Amino acid sequence: MQQQDFDYDFLVIGGGSGGVRASRMAAGLGARVAVVEAAQLGGTCVNVGCIPKKLLSYAAHFSQLAAEAKGFGWQLAQPQFDWPTLIANKDREIERLNGIYDRMLTGAGITVVRGHAVLSGTHSVLVNGQTISAHHILIATGGTPRLPAIPGVEHAISSNEAFHLKQMPQRVVVVGGGYIAVEFASIFNGLGAQTTLIHRHRQLLRGFDADLGLHLAQEMALQGVNFRWDEEIQSIDKQEDGLHLQLKSGEHLVVDCVMYATGRVPYTEGLGLEAAGVHRNHKGAVEVDSHFTTNVPSIHAVGDVVDRMALTPVALAEGTVVAHHLFGQGGKSAPDYELVPTAVFSHPQIGTVGLSEEVARERFGSVQIFQSSFRPLTNRMGAEPENVFLKLIVSKADQRVRGVHMVGEGAGELMQGFAVALQCGATKQQFDATIGIHPTVAEELVTMR
Ligand code: FAD
Ligand code: NDP
Repeated sequence: MQQQDFDYDFLVIGGGSGGVRASRMAAGLGARVAVVEAAQLGGTCVNVGCIPKKLLSYAAHFSQLAAEAKGFGWQLAQPQFDWPTLIANKDREIERLNGIYDRMLTGAGITVVRGHAVLSGTHSVLVNGQTISAHHILIATGGTPRLPAIPGVEHAISSNEAFHLKQMPQRVVVVGGGYIAVEFASIFNGLGAQTTLIHRHRQLLRGFDADLGLHLAQEMALQGVNFRWDEEIQSIDKQEDGLHLQLKSGEHLVVDCVMYATGRVPYTEGLGLEAAGVHRNHKGAVEVDSHFTTNVPSIHAVGDVVDRMALTPVALAEGTVVAHHLFGQGGKSAPDYELVPTAVFSHPQIGTVGLSEEVARERFGSVQIFQSSFRPLTNRMGAEPENVFLKLIVSKADQRVRGVHMVGEGAGELMQGFAVALQCGATKQQFDATIGIHPTVAEELVTMR
């Protein structure tokens, strides 16, 4: 068949971060594009991920700011927090963004089809009983939470449901030690819930520089989060007075809410991958090559469903590669995953780019570590002490800065600029030659010797 014989040049399954970016780019390059979305446009990030999470995280930070304000002379009445107000305002903002996404797509001449798409061949999908054909198909269906199969797990929630709770739970258990666990434990704790984080190991944020997880755990504990290390929930029993949790250690807890943040898996349920002959790897992720093409030449995949790095900017970058490869001059390559900066919006925040000390030692043998921990100026006027932590990793032979890591407020904002420096291959001497901005926390990163 010729390209013009298909209904579309490019059919995208999933109107989330990767799908929307790829479809807009492709339309801009002259392709006839359709996007099929089963739920809300914007996908995980806009509806149950980055955006609502950051709004809740801002909300939680106000309790700390209110406590700090006293030391600066502010006499505030006892702050009162109202969860329904926060959720209603958050929902309004998300609805606004859904509308923007809709207008952005239709304004670019893209057809938006509402419904669940099922692959019915190498060039076709079935939506609402109708077959749509396309020269190229992009799978951008994202991921979904994975909860362990324990008795009573149906009484627990994932982050998806946390955004829509009618009331804020007063006693919360969060399970996991990754991004979502520490972010939500910080949110619930900051909003005033009695918060316990249960983790099956002794260290948070596996895969990050180990010092970050250690420092974060110390700071979160000072802010009131209870930690249960080397612990697991064996069963959940719903009773009148709450959820009764039986723990591996023998301990028994009664809480109002259990939120699992035990990882996410690629979402391919009911997608018909088998019908189209698309291969998945042992983790269930769609397998792709360097241009994000699957083993079927007309089918491509990006974002969480390929499980390379589950972050919105990564899905955007991958979507850009596909659009340019199929409809442009090519020339865009997959991102350098090792140099992707990332922030964890816990309290305090983490910002990080580059290699952990562990990986740098493995790779370069000899590395120099520069690190510092201190109480910042904003925190010196009577509030609970909070220390920031900063760390630079330098490969000794060539003096290149291989990793920049920080725990402390503003770490996410600050790390973007350092990511540019590492992308440019900056050396420790170039960091040293850079004049600091005083008084800031970030100046420490160019003055550590
Ligand atoms: P998604 O955005 O998940 O989009 C997939 C879309 O496909 C969905 O809208 C879904 O409804 C649709 N779909 C699925 N199957 C079908 C089908 N068969 N037919 C039609 N439509 C279908 N990343 C960051 O960078 N920063 C953050 O701060 C951050 N915070 C997060 C917080 C949470 C709680 C979570 C869960 C994730 C967070 N992420 C964050 C990760 C980020 O949201 C994802 O990496 C990103 O959304 C992935 O984009 P995607 O396009 O691959 O998939
Ligand atoms: P992560 O993979 O980051 O963390 C999962 C955690 O759950 C790990 O600590 C893991 O422990 C633990 N775990 C896994 N299985 C079990 C189990 N059966 N029982 C107990 N504990 C278990 O996943 P998240 O769900 O936190 O987040 C998913 C992804 O979404 C992130 O990796 C990230 O890419 C993205 N995200 C990004 C954010 C951001 O950019 N700020 C925010 C939120 C999400 P172990 O260490 O042993 O594996």
